[in-house]
Amino acid sequence: MLELEAAIQRILDLIPPTQPERIALGHAHGRILAEQIVSPVDLPAFDNSAMDGYAVRAADLATATADAPVLLRLLGRAAAGEVFSGNVTPGSCVRVFTGSPLPNGADAVMMQEDTRPAPAQTGAIQFIDVCKPWENVRFQGEDFKRGTPLGHAGDQLTAGRLHLLAATGLTHLNVGRRPVCSLLATGSELLEAGTPLAPGKIFESNRLGLAALAQRFGAETKIFPLVKDTLPDTRAALETAFEQCDLVVTSGGVSVGEMDFVKTAFEQLGGELQFWKVAIRPGRPFVFGRCRGKFLFGLPGNPVSAFVTFLLLVRPALLRWQGAANLNPAAGSGVLAEPLSNPAERRHLMRVAVDAAGKVRSSGAQASHTLMSLAAANALVDVPPKTTLPPGAMVPLIRWE
Ligand code: AMP
Ligand code: MG
Repeated sequence: MLELEAAIQRILDLIPPTQPERIALGHAHGRILAEQIVSPVDLPAFDNSAMDGYAVRAADLATATADAPVLLRLLGRAAAGEVFSGNVTPGSCVRVFTGSPLPNGADAVMMQEDTRPAPAQTGAIQFIDVCKPWENVRFQGEDFKRGTPLGHAGDQLTAGRLHLLAATGLTHLNVGRRPVCSLLATGSELLEAGTPLAPGKIFESNRLGLAALAQRFGAETKIFPLVKDTLPDTRAALETAFEQCDLVVTSGGVSVGEMDFVKTAFEQLGGELQFWKVAIRPGRPFVFGRCRGKFLFGLPGNPVSAFVTFLLLVRPALLRWQGAANLNPAAGSGVLAEPLSNPAERRHLMRVAVDAAGKVRSSGAQASHTLMSLAAANALVDVPPKTTLPPGAMVPLIRWE
């Protein structure tokens, strides 16, 4: 049986090189950059005021106090977006606002709270405090200069990074193409939600849960109709899915039962099986193969097994497909608030709830069909075979939200 890390590596080795596509910045949230972005501009683009106030020459205010204010002649004003055409000469000032270009000759901005209109003289302002040279001035290029790298191939475009790129006036960028991922569910017991529940049948849930994960990690998803447990049905469904998608994700039908047809159907279509069975719990039966340049991920049917194997084995493939540098996003660690025990022979990816302080607890029953604990979980902890991790232990987390 393959170890998890070896299985992931075998999958990643087969993922084709990322194809870039050019898209508008407004559609790029969450996408993976496929190029280095170098700033075409300085930011700020010009020296400007950080305050509503008056552009001055600091030396003019060297003696200013509330009792002995300094009077400066008001030359005019520059609102944000306007450039003052004159010069701030000794003894004068210009009204400015946050973001106004600093007028020529000025070397500081005095906040309006430190001024008073001169009572006797219109067109003059009293300053009641000193200021340092360059106080309240935001310098051209102090944030970053033209030529600075603002993003690298493999970076995910977060809201913050998009904000930065938007500030440079960039309109389009190259990102990794998203994989089209089909979701199939096999099982003659499965029913579509919205139909009446018949004896012995269950509502199908894997496609929806897995589609949410797939979308979360950048795939475009296609949900296919339910597949009955027969070889012809399974083969026909796989054939259609392979025509329409880059990655085919199935659930169910990969164990050793006589009703498990995914492997056989896949091989009959000419698919090369890369491996099946990974040494983890939940989710030991797992099929990975390639067919006509497309990929099959055959997940086990138990809902938690499907969810966990998707997270561990399909997510890295989706991210690599798009060129992501980080294949385990949102990882991190937490501290156990209670023991986590795995008496079994295989490592157990246990569902846990991590609170805001980073304390980690089991999120409930750990069987591979119990969904309450999946809904309550926000991470998995990898507990080695025959091991109890004690309270206080620092544990790496696998996260998805
Ligand atoms: P299998 O891997 O096909 O043997 O299925 C294992 C268990 O998971 C059985 O109890 C199935 O009924 C259940 N199961 C399989 N597929 C799904 C699905 N798509 N949604 C909900 N339960 C499923
Ligand atoms: Mg089944």
